[in-house]
Amino acid sequence: MPPEPHEIFAADCRACPRLAAFLEDVRTKHPEYHAAPVPSFGPLDARLLIVGLAPGMHGANATGRPFTGDYAGVLLYQTLHEHGFASAPESTRADDGLELVDCRITNAVKCLPPQNKPITEEIRTCNGFLAAEMTAMQPRVILALGKIAHDAILRAKGLPLSSLRFAHGAEHELDAQTRLIDSYHCSRYNTQTRRLTPTMFNELFARIRTHLG
Ligand code: SF4
Repeated sequence: MPPEPHEIFAADCRACPRLAAFLEDVRTKHPEYHAAPVPSFGPLDARLLIVGLAPGMHGANATGRPFTGDYAGVLLYQTLHEHGFASAPESTRADDGLELVDCRITNAVKCLPPQNKPITEEIRTCNGFLAAEMTAMQPRVILALGKIAHDAILRAKGLPLSSLRFAHGAEHELDAQTRLIDSYHCSRYNTQTRRLTPTMFNELFARIRTHLG
C-alpha cells in the first residue's frame, strides 16, 4: 500500500515490492544492518530541509540514519557543522550523539535501491511521505541534493517537473515562503571528481544562512 496522506514515515512500509525484496536479501547477508525504511533525521520544526536520493548500502541502510556511516555524508556533515547546523563534523553511527540544529535531512526514497537507482514508480510511491513531511514542516529553505531529489520536491508540491529546471546553485521560489536551492549530490563520485568541491558546497550553505537570517 502507498503511504496514507499526511503520513510522514512508516517504519514497516513495503509498498515497493522490488525494494522490499531487495531489503530482505540484504538483511540475510548483513543481519546487523538496519535494512529497512530510513527515517528522516532532525527536528520537524527545522527551517532547513535537505533532500537526498536514497539510503546507501553501507551508510544509511546500515546505520538507519541518513548520510551516516559512509562517504556520502563526509562533506555534508562537515559543512553542516561549519555553518552551525550540526553539533559535530562527523556522522558515523545513529547513536554517536550528533544533533542537527534547525535542519532536517531526508531522502526522496526511504529504502535502499539496487545500484542506488530507484525506478520512477518507487520515487512516485515514496513521494507521499515527502509531501506530508514538507507540509508538516513548512521549511523556509529546501536544499535538493541532485536532480532526482529536485524532481521529487516538485512532485511533492504538485508542480510539473518542467516548471523549475535543476542546475547546481539555482534558486527557485517553491511557494510564497519556501525557497528551493539545487546542489549536485555530495556523493563520493561527485566529490572525488571535484564536480562538487567543498568551496562550492560552502558557498551554498552561506547562502542558506543568509536566507534563514
Ligand atoms: S521506498 Fe518508500 S514507499 Fe517504497 S517501500 Fe520504502 S518507504 Fe515504502
